[in-house]
Amino acid sequence: MPASAEAQPGPMVPAPFAVASKRQETADTWTLELSPPGEQGMNFAPGQFTMISAFGAGEVPISISGDPGRAGPLVHTVRAVGLATAAICRAAPGEVLEVRGPFGRPWPVSEVEGSDVLVIAGGIGLAPLRPAILALLARRERYGRLLLLYGGRSPDQLLFTEELERWRSEGLEVAVSVDSAGPEWLGHVGVVPRLIARASFDPARAAAFVCGPEVMMRFTVGTLRQAGVDAGNVYGSMERNMQCGIAHCGHCQLGPTLVCRDGPVYRWSELERWLRIREL
Ligand SMILES: Cc1cc2nc3c(=O)[nH]c(=O)nc-3n(C[C@H](O)[C@H](O)[C@H](O)COP(=O)(O)OP(=O)(O)OC[C@H]3O[C@@H](n4cnc5c(N)ncnc54)[C@H](O)[C@@H]3O)c2cc1C
Repeated sequence: MPASAEAQPGPMVPAPFAVASKRQETADTWTLELSPPGEQGMNFAPGQFTMISAFGAGEVPISISGDPGRAGPLVHTVRAVGLATAAICRAAPGEVLEVRGPFGRPWPVSEVEGSDVLVIAGGIGLAPLRPAILALLARRERYGRLLLLYGGRSPDQLLFTEELERWRSEGLEVAVSVDSAGPEWLGHVGVVPRLIARASFDPARAAAFVCGPEVMMRFTVGTLRQAGVDAGNVYGSMERNMQCGIAHCGHCQLGPTLVCRDGPVYRWSELERWLRIREL
């Protein structure tokens, strides 16, 4: 095929990204840095995702976990749960992964300037929130209190533990809790919403970014509302089975919305009526 007849990378045509480096975060989760095919890296906003595949193993949506303020490799943090994610996590430096994107509506980091911002993450949910944390800290002076409330199943499942210390020193108040732990764990034990009661913030001027398993998000938002935070100031990132990423196939439908186009980040007040319908 003459070069001019080859499809150019775009929303429907993946581009080859080579694995530049790889770091194991937990027993089943890796962070991969991917080099773009040309000079130009991928511009993205915090909360956006790509559709990514290892050859022959299927394409899946994965959030970008890198720094939106820094040019360089594309960063993804992936938990191996099935065929596609296991193949991505197995990819060795030098191997090529196919990537389309970025897609989706981002965390509204500029819109919430002037607010106290609570970033609330459960498990792998910290990965899609990492770019938002980095963007908030890059303009620290524009916000009131910045809090990260982060929960994992056990201490060995926590992500980015070294970075949590650095974020603390840059002005993020960090509280971590685990569902269960041995006697060596000196931190909180219990579910994430419990951290909200201990946190110090002004509910009248607070915004929250929430990402984690859906049940965790529902309880978290319930607790935020009891604390006086308006659902219009709460944002959640939704995960649904997704195939095309570009609003053509309808697999990720949520009520009248498509998660790939209208999400993954939604204002909770737009979302909650659909979440009340079982199995939707
Ligand atoms: C917008 C978005 C962003 C995401 N970001 C990340 C991320 O940053 N890191 C990460 O590790 N994962 C992320 N996921 C989840 C990831 O896409 C799924 O884990 C992946 O599709 C599973 O594919 P698989 O072939 O490995 O496993 P499968 O064999 O397809 O599934 C394994 C298990 O995961 C469940 N599952 C499959 N697809 C999804 C899905 N899209 N959402 C939730 N559960 C699913 C299945 O029901 C099954 O229980 C994201 C999903 C979405 C929609």
